[in-house]
Parts: sequence; C-alpha cells; structure tokens
Amino acid sequence: MRTPTWWWSAAGVAGLTAAVRAVELGLRTLVVTKGRLPDGNTRWAQGGVAVVLPDEGASGDDSLDAHVADTLAAGGGLCDAAAVRSIVGAGPDAVNRLLRGGARFDSDASGRLARTREGGHSAFRVIRAGGDATGAEVQRCLEVAAEGLPVLEHHVAVDALTTASGQVCGVRVLAGPDATPGVVRARAVVLATGGLGQLYRSTSNPEQATGDGLALALRAGASAADLEFVQFHPTVLYTPRAKGRCPLVTEAVRGEGAVLVDAAGRRVMQGVHPLGDLAPRDVVSAAITHRLASAPGGVDDHVYLDATGIAGFAARFPTVAAACAAAGIDPERDPIPVVPAAHFACGGVVTDTHGRTDVLGLYAAGEVARTGLHGANRLASNSLLEGLVMGRRAAEAVAADLGAGRLPRGEARPGPV
Ligand SMILES: Cc1cc2nc3c(=O)[nH]c(=O)nc-3n(C[C@H](O)[C@H](O)[C@H](O)COP(=O)(O)OP(=O)(O)OC[C@H]3O[C@@H](n4cnc5c(N)ncnc54)[C@H](O)[C@@H]3O)c2cc1C
Repeated sequence: MRTPTWWWSAAGVAGLTAAVRAVELGLRTLVVTKGRLPDGNTRWAQGGVAVVLPDEGASGDDSLDAHVADTLAAGGGLCDAAAVRSIVGAGPDAVNRLLRGGARFDSDASGRLARTREGGHSAFRVIRAGGDATGAEVQRCLEVAAEGLPVLEHHVAVDALTTASGQVCGVRVLAGPDATPGVVRARAVVLATGGLGQLYRSTSNPEQATGDGLALALRAGASAADLEFVQFHPTVLYTPRAKGRCPLVTEAVRGEGAVLVDAAGRRVMQGVHPLGDLAPRDVVSAAITHRLASAPGGVDDHVYLDATGIAGFAARFPTVAAACAAAGIDPERDPIPVVPAAHFACGGVVTDTHGRTDVLGLYAAGEVARTGLHGANRLASNSLLEGLVMGRRAAEAVAADLGAGRLPRGEARPGPV
C-alpha cells in the first residue's frame, strides 16, 4: 500500500540510500538533483569505508570500541559521544546491506575484504573498491538499487516551501538550462545535498558542492552547528595556480607507507604526532601549512609525498596514478607535489541520529547534516559510512512521522514561483 506522499532528496550516498529505503517503506519518492544523477562528492571518494566487520576477517586487535575511540579522538573533544556510538555501531549492518546489494569491494589474498589504514585510525579497518575508487562503486551500486525511481535531474533546489506554521512542505526549484522556476510539493523533504568545498579557492570537491542545502535549511529556520570546522585534506595534487577541484591523493597512500617531505627532503611529520604521517587530518594539514610558512628548501606553496617505495603503485591506486600521469608525474619515480585543500564540512544542519532537524517536515542526511559524529575533524572514511547509515534512518524517520500523524498536510505560504 503506497502512502500518497511526495518525498524529496538528492543523489549521493545519503540521498540514494534514503530514497531506496523510502520506496521499500511504501513512500512515494522523488529524487531531485541539480546535475546528473552521479554528480556530487560520493563518486569521487577514494580511500574507502571505515567499518569493523568481524565476520569478514577484521584484524584481531580491532573492535567497535576502538573505532569509536578513534572517531572521538580525531574530533578533538567536540563529537557527540552518543551519536558516534550510534552511527559507527550501525556501520556493519549498513555495509553488509551494500555488499548484499552487489557492491564489489577489493579482497586480499585469502579472499576476505582487503583493509587499509588511514589517518587517525589505530587499526587496518578501511575497506575499499577498485583500489582507490570506492565512491564510484558505492554510487554505482546505489544507482542500480534506485533504478526505476522518478528522478528530476538538472533541478536546483533553492528554497523550502513552508506553511503558515513554519512546517516544510516542499521546495522551490530552478529547472533546466533556462533556470525555469517551479515547485515540488512534499509532505517531507530530506536534504542530502552534500558539502561546500567549492566555497574555497581550491578543494577536492566537484562543482556541485556549494553548500546549497545548508543555506536552504537556514532560511527555513533550521539550526546549524560546527560550520567553522571545514576539514582540509592534507594532500591534493599540487599544480601551479590551480583553482576549483584538485585531484585528491588519498590518505591510503600514506597508509601504504608514503611519507611527507619538504623540498629539502626533510620529513614533515617527524616529531609532530605519535601517529606520524597517519596523524588525524587536521594535524597533518596544520603541520604542512606550518612547514610552508617557514619554507625550508625555498618552496613555500607545496610539499611532497614520497611514495616511491610503494611497488605496483598504479595497480593499487589507479585514480591517483592517472591524475599524476596527466600532470607528468610518475609516483614510482618522483615524489608527488601536494598541498592541503578544502575537503569536508564537519558541521551542517543540526539533526538527531534519525535525520530530524528542528523544523517539522525537514530532514537532513550525509555531509549537509551535523549529527555530532565528526566534531571538529572527521575521522577518515567515516563519511560514506555516515551517508549509508543516516540516509536509511532519515527515510525511516519520515515514515514513522507520517505514520504517527506528525506531518499534517498544509498549504504553502505564497512566494515567488
Ligand atoms: C575527492 C574526495 C574523496 C573522498 N574520499 C572519501 C573516502 O574515501 N571515504 C569517505 O568516507 N568519504 C570520502 N569523501 C567524502 C564523501 O565522499 C562525502 O562526504 C560523501 O560522499 C557525501 O555524500 P552526500 O550524499 O552527503 O553528498 P554528495 O555525494 O555530494 O551528493 C549531493 C547531491 O546533492 C546534489 N545537490 C547539491 N545541491 C543541490 C541543490 N541545490 N538542488 C538539488 N540537488 C543538489 C548534488 O548534485 C549531488 O547529487 C571524499 C570526498 C571527496 C570530494
């Protein structure tokens, strides 16, 4: 039995997970996205998904408690501990669901899921796909699951429709190349519009990541928090005068043994943090920035990632190798020039651990949301995990709220159309 409800979302890991779950729950669902379906941060994710999967041969010294502790430590004391345990704890189920749905993750020689380590992790727990193309596989798998769902591509959501009492009841959109104004009416709106890296001069994020969902939510009266915590990834590929999206050099390269050096060949992370080159991202980015400011070796706009010790680099990191090749760099011979760039919005629209904002009818999931998982600094590879967990929960919250009669039908206040 289908509930006569229009329900709206966007098309990354959080939005598609939410949409697929909403359909399972019998909700009439519409996916609205400002570009094409695969646009957004998700398909660019490289390193992997952080998750402890005991049945899949997690290393003996790893545990859910250790993953929680690493997340809290990376977050600099500003995570919500209950949210961390709730979301990280739901990770294994979320990843198993993805695997059952046909996601192809890389295996090790024993046929178990291969695992790598990234900054801030005390164990090898990051699973990956296609070497360094995890996001593309997650996106592919979710698009297959979402096949047949109604999708409006090239529709930019610009504002929420609200009732006289402030309840959200849809969105205003600009459609197509002429930006034709229109409205999408909905009993519930799930924002899953991703991050805001494009607000910065250089970023790892694609051009869709302009913080639209955050602006929309604030105008609708929702609360936001931790917006000052924008994570700078320590290593995007440096090219002179680069602007906009810069190719990422995944942290997993350091997980496999690469080290940061300055132009004089001196180690950047030596003596800075007990985890050395695998310290949390904020620590590594700050150390690089400090080293650039003092400029030993006479170079003040980049350092180098020496990955020459990693045999078979191109097979293990095909995405990074291709970006390096395009810039004329062979990582097996040359140190890779790198620099920090804006990467991830740790804060966002405040939600509970079920995606509810403080505005009736408005939900948020994924990078646009602030659940308390990340605090001041996201632990590497916790974001795809959050999208998988919170997308599903947001859909379930919508269904529960509709079922409990908490989302009455309401007329939108007049506004520009
Ligand atoms: C290069 C790179 C590497 C990364 N590597 C990893 C990793 O290894 N592991 C990890 O966990 N995380 C990683 N991340 C972070 C992670 O990919 C993102 O945080 C996550 O994919 C965000 O998912 P999302 O569903 O919230 O948003 P997105 O995937 O960004 O999707 C947002 C969607 O909303 C749409 N949209 C935006 N604005 C509007 C609007 N106004 N109207 C309509 N639609 C709109 C977009 O077009 C897009 O479809 C990486 C990010 C980048 C950029």
